[in-house]
Amino acid sequence: MENKCDLLIVGAGIFGLTIAERAANELGKNVLVIDKRNHIGGNAYSEFDKDTNIEVHKYGAHLFHTSNQTVWDYVNKFTKFTDYVHKVYTTHNNEVFPLPINLGTINQFFHAAYTPSEARDLIKQQAAEVAGIEPTNLKEQGISLIGKPLFEAFIMNYTSKQWQTPAEELDPSIIKRLPVRYTYNNNYFANTYEGLPLDGYEKWFQNMIDSAKEGKGSISIKLDTDYFDSPELQSLKGVVPTLFTGAIDRYFDYSEGELPWRSLDLVREIVDTDDFQGCPVMNYADLDAKWTRIHEFKHFHPERWGKDEWPGYSENFGKTVIVREYSKTWKQGDEPYYPVNTPETRELFAKYKKLAEAEKNENKVIFGGRLGEYAYYDMDNVFASALNKFEEYKTDGFFA
Ligand code: FAD
Ligand code: UDP
Repeated sequence: MENKCDLLIVGAGIFGLTIAERAANELGKNVLVIDKRNHIGGNAYSEFDKDTNIEVHKYGAHLFHTSNQTVWDYVNKFTKFTDYVHKVYTTHNNEVFPLPINLGTINQFFHAAYTPSEARDLIKQQAAEVAGIEPTNLKEQGISLIGKPLFEAFIMNYTSKQWQTPAEELDPSIIKRLPVRYTYNNNYFANTYEGLPLDGYEKWFQNMIDSAKEGKGSISIKLDTDYFDSPELQSLKGVVPTLFTGAIDRYFDYSEGELPWRSLDLVREIVDTDDFQGCPVMNYADLDAKWTRIHEFKHFHPERWGKDEWPGYSENFGKTVIVREYSKTWKQGDEPYYPVNTPETRELFAKYKKLAEAEKNENKVIFGGRLGEYAYYDMDNVFASALNKFEEYKTDGFFA
């Protein structure tokens, strides 16, 4: 099989499966996708807990949201979406506040009844120390967005738990993704489209694979297979075009040094209660809670509540599944989850990017995805990147 494939893809995550689907269905290629894990979908995979049948996102909560029309049209070919709208709360000083920071958060924090323009004026005064400068790091960005007191309450300690890198050294883009609103709108995302795959993530990704059954090409999946443990697969270098979606520094055997990652401990627990926290995600803004947030998965699918076929989601089921998320520094052997975006890491990644360009020319190997591009991508960014890269590589003859 390996020798007969026209394209080898390492990694059955979103990037790998999107390229596989396009190459099989548009170009009629026979694609082999391997993954070292025992399932498809990469970090976006979810499974149904066997005691409760509650859908648990194995690698941390995954919410799909996008404003990219091309991506939305593409993903809708393979799944329907629920109309779930994500809400997050945060606990600070034993009090619960709504996120992202909005007029409700501001008025609760200052025990006030500010109008939108009064709140804007207040935040402007509280951000005076960074007035007129273009933020160059996360701390300046945070203070300029919400002023110092709110930054110190809701961002500073959460960020230090999450990144264990001083806010002064982190890239401002990390929190630019969080909107700040002078209304009471506490929808976490501000995208045109949002929802969760109606039948779960695995079904969505399986539909992408199965779509090739109709066409000229094919997609074969081989799980529990680590590229680096297979001399046979590695011998295809330079012979069969290969896409690698694992960590780029691992591919080059860390020759330029290790790219730093954040990893996570996701500690799952079945709690004997109907409802643990009343919302899908509760962040913990203070240092006394060692975890950054707790996910309660039954709240991600309100449309399943009260349905006979979903007893785990009923109001008096007596059990619920929660996951506490702890951030930790990545070391070899851990899952690399978050690239750490600092000036030093960008410089190091640039060196790997150079090696990657040479690898394409010499060995027909290309790189992509969150691990391959060392980018803090959401799922929609990964679909967009894969669809763009597919066009680019199609045009330059890579798949020929
Ligand atoms: P991955 O999903 O990492 O897939 C890469 C695959 O390659 C993996 O399955 C891996 O096992 C495999 N692989 C690696 N090395 C090898 C090897 N040597 N041999 C064989 N296989 C290999 N995005 C959102 O849009 N919304 C969210 O709410 C959201 N929440 C997130 C929460 C967490 C905790 C994390 C970590 C990410 C979150 N994301 C979210 C981002 C999302 O997970 C990614 O953007 C997306 O899943 C990345 O897809 P990918 O294909 O690039 O990589
Ligand atoms: N953040 C924070 N407090 C919060 C939520 C987020 O300080 O309560 C900051 C933190 O630096 C985090 C970043 O905003 O890493 C992005 O948060 P988001 O929830 O979007 O991240 P993800 O779900 O990818 O971990």
